[in-house]
Amino acid sequence: MIILRDHPLYNLNTFGIKAIANYFTELTSAEEMKELLHHESYKTMPKLILGGGSNLLLIQENINGLVLKNSIHGISKVKEDRDYVYVRAGAGESWHGLVSYCLQHNYAGVENLSLIPGNVGAAPMQNIGAYGVELKDVFSELEALNINDLKMEIFNSAQCRFGYRESVFKHELKDRYIITSVTLRLNKVPRFNTSYGAITQELESMGVQEVSIAAISAAVCNIRRSKLPDPAKIGNAGSFFKNPEVKTEKYNALKSVFPSIVGYPLENGNTKLAAGWLIEQCGWKGKIIGNAGVHKLQALVLINNGNASGKEIYELSRQILDSVLEKFGVTLEREVNIY
Ligand code: FAD
Ligand code: NAP
Repeated sequence: MIILRDHPLYNLNTFGIKAIANYFTELTSAEEMKELLHHESYKTMPKLILGGGSNLLLIQENINGLVLKNSIHGISKVKEDRDYVYVRAGAGESWHGLVSYCLQHNYAGVENLSLIPGNVGAAPMQNIGAYGVELKDVFSELEALNINDLKMEIFNSAQCRFGYRESVFKHELKDRYIITSVTLRLNKVPRFNTSYGAITQELESMGVQEVSIAAISAAVCNIRRSKLPDPAKIGNAGSFFKNPEVKTEKYNALKSVFPSIVGYPLENGNTKLAAGWLIEQCGWKGKIIGNAGVHKLQALVLINNGNASGKEIYELSRQILDSVLEKFGVTLEREVNIY
């Protein structure tokens, strides 16, 4: 096991922020993690568990403590019954790699979640979601290392308390566990979900006659490539803010003033507002301030326009929050994890 001092994180976060980790290590097994954390100095040191670095903004130039990159690999089928196949993946596998494995084996359920950057271990953190599907829809269980007593624990779906881009690991259990593997429950017989966003339209323009999980995945990849900035070219962490949930009375009141406001009814009676629309209406879409900016095609995505510091991007997000609050009386919440 190698522990590096003053390690640059530039290539390890998709915003491309030039922060430095005081201590850095990359581990490939839960046993190695236990061995490291057995040492009192590392156990008590502040820790940042790193996956693909695609959902975080580093605002400190020096990350105090230990950055532990989780690189546990391996994907395998662990169980099968009449309707489902259970596939376990190490936390360090890339999420899209796992989706590709499922597509190759014709296991259905994750096709709408194609091309989401990052690693398997982070997927439960915010219950990743796209195109009407969330991780919780295919989740069976996860295994995690308790940082306190160094014991392995299993969490089922109820214990993860999944919500809209939320889980218990972002709140009550924040920084207390290292997720080491995730097991998905995939359908043998697919249930296609093509009603969301532009999927149907894209399938049509692709000339698809018969819908399949491979076709849906290809459509989702096409849409995503056309709309979202590639982090390899433009630093970003996807949607910077969550779509806010408001009382439907509030939505109706806003609609009477802003007839084109975009809202979707939720099962709990509230309405989800499209944060991208709110931000765009405040004039932010495509705006560049210094080294930070708002993407020209999707106002929910903040970008590193070259050499931004984490603080510059954070400051831009603060200005956006303020202007949306002022114009619409709606408080946006950051989705990206700030360190
Ligand atoms: P990281 O950024 O490395 O970490 C995120 C958080 O999880 C941090 O708090 C970290 O400490 C913690 N963490 C990571 N791994 C572990 C672990 N093993 N154990 C404990 N804690 C851990 N998200 C969506 O939900 N839907 C989308 O459609 C989507 N599209 C995106 C598009 C783009 C272009 C980009 C850049 C991002 C997008 N995201 C999307 C956000 C991001 O890809 C996901 O949230 C992803 O799951 C983050 O994975 P990661 O490995 O990069 O996590
Ligand atoms: P889009 O299709 O332009 O839609 C804009 C917003 O409207 C989305 O945020 C989506 O909410 C919502 N929406 C669209 N159709 C809906 C429906 N039928 N029912 C309920 N809500 C609906 O969005 P986009 O930016 O191109 O993203 C497409 C998908 O990828 C979305 O699901 C989005 O969440 C996901 N994505 C996520 C990230 C991230 O970093 N979190 C980044 C890029 C894309 P939801 O966001 O709640 O789905």
